Amino acid sequence: MEATINENTTIITISDVLEYQFCPRFIYFMHCLDIPQHEEKRFKVLKGREVHEERKLTNREYVRKKLHCIEKDSEVYLVSKLHHIKGIVDEVLFLEDGTAAPLEYKFAEYKEKLFSTYKYQIVLQGLLIKENYGKEVNRGYICYTRSNSLVKELEITPSDFNKAIEIIEDIIEIIEKGKYPKATRSGNKCIDCCYRNICV
Ligand code: SF4
Repeated sequence: MEATINENTTIITISDVLEYQFCPRFIYFMHCLDIPQHEEKRFKVLKGREVHEERKLTNREYVRKKLHCIEKDSEVYLVSKLHHIKGIVDEVLFLEDGTAAPLEYKFAEYKEKLFSTYKYQIVLQGLLIKENYGKEVNRGYICYTRSNSLVKELEITPSDFNKAIEIIEDIIEIIEKGKYPKATRSGNKCIDCCYRNICV
């Protein structure tokens, strides 16, 4: 894949990958047929004051110290020219061992089951950091502000990066070629899906 982008390049977002992981057909309905989801989005984003209030309650300096962070960049918007994905990273941490790592704040309680759904968000942020900062990335962190700022570490292996790149390529293929993807393997997700009536 060439490392250039122009106005014709399809660039997906990290949120697209989360939608794809919920069900690949979401990508088709959203991007190929242009049918948006209902307002009650699956990946709810807390806005404005609520987030602001939560931020005040979280001692970010303390969290970073615990992680042996020597420098950080906050709220960085990054684009991958190599892999055609973009997204915002809450914090890019530069660690004592010379590596860098994404830190994502979740304004939520820690739940084991949900933790795995965040995995690719962290891996993709790691991919963006690696390319844009030229640093090794082998882990990422999630801080749960409603669990007393509990920080969970997530290892990122080379095969995680490869898998993430495969997912990106799959999504771009759906969007560019209008390929109708397979349905989710979990029928439970279809029960309250907003595309249920048009999905065959
Ligand atoms: S109805 Fe099921 S298969 Fe179809 S888009 Fe929704 S979750 Fe995916």
